[in-house]
Amino acid sequence: MPEPIIIGTVALDFIETPFGKVENALGGSACYASIAASFFSKPGIMSIIGKDFPNEHIEFLKSRQINIDGITTGEKTFKWQGFYEFDMNEAKTLKTELNSLESYSVAVPESYKDAKYVFLANIDPEQQLKVINTLNNPELIVMDTMNFWIDIKKEQLLETIKKAHILILNDGEARQLFGTPNLVKAARIALKLVSKAVIIKKGEHGALLFTDSKHFNAPGYPLENIKDPTGCGDCFGGAFTGFLTKTNDVSEENMRKAVIYGSVVASLNAEGFSIENLKKINIKDIEKRYNEFKELRDF
Ligand code: AMP
Repeated sequence: MPEPIIIGTVALDFIETPFGKVENALGGSACYASIAASFFSKPGIMSIIGKDFPNEHIEFLKSRQINIDGITTGEKTFKWQGFYEFDMNEAKTLKTELNSLESYSVAVPESYKDAKYVFLANIDPEQQLKVINTLNNPELIVMDTMNFWIDIKKEQLLETIKKAHILILNDGEARQLFGTPNLVKAARIALKLVSKAVIIKKGEHGALLFTDSKHFNAPGYPLENIKDPTGCGDCFGGAFTGFLTKTNDVSEENMRKAVIYGSVVASLNAEGFSIENLKKINIKDIEKRYNEFKELRDF
């Protein structure tokens, strides 16, 4: 059985940063998340593509041992166009073309229904909820979202969050969703909704893990060459959930390690355009940077 199972977008991305530009690149939250998870486990994706989606991208996902039984085909693939200025922490969306995502209703394959580990990557919260309600006995539901869904589907989003175990947000989204400038307060509110933990990512400045009794502050990796941070949030969530799946241990101590693995894969992703660097790296590169992270915090 593929695990973790991941719902999210499969997209064609148009990205511009101060260091370059790509068009029609393989993107989407489910792609980044599943590639990141595939370094630790054998994930499966639920999403929709269009008839215009290049077959080479499907072949690539398969070559990473990512199960694609949950991908259905509609008319036109979801497209996202974004850019970054010198502050690479914030993507500015130029255009979101939902296309077949607009009428998408997720069909969870039979072979996914017994999955214990689930990552609800960024997509319509109603579809995230449908996945939760279709699974037989999930043990860990990790969930991500973004400002687009906070703006247009806040009520549905909050309903879905109440059924998740771990919520991952970036700092701006946490402030927006919970209506406070203070991240500790935002985490306190979020912890009343989810049962296990809240992670607030702060872009290149690291990530905060809050549970009821503890607080872990993961450093940011001092990257000198950031080319394109697209997908870093999804890589974080995918690697985080992939590592927990592999180790089958959701203790606070192990979640701290998972946060570092999430940060490692995200930082490696930012060093290349689109998924370029994810294609090149392997588990040895990940372990090497994981050890560097340890040294960063040794005092
Ligand atoms: P991240 O940089 O981790 O926030 O994710 C970037 C990816 O999210 C891109 O590859 C986009 O295709 C995808 N994306 C952009 N907008 C949305 C949206 N509204 N819902 C789901 N995925 C999106």
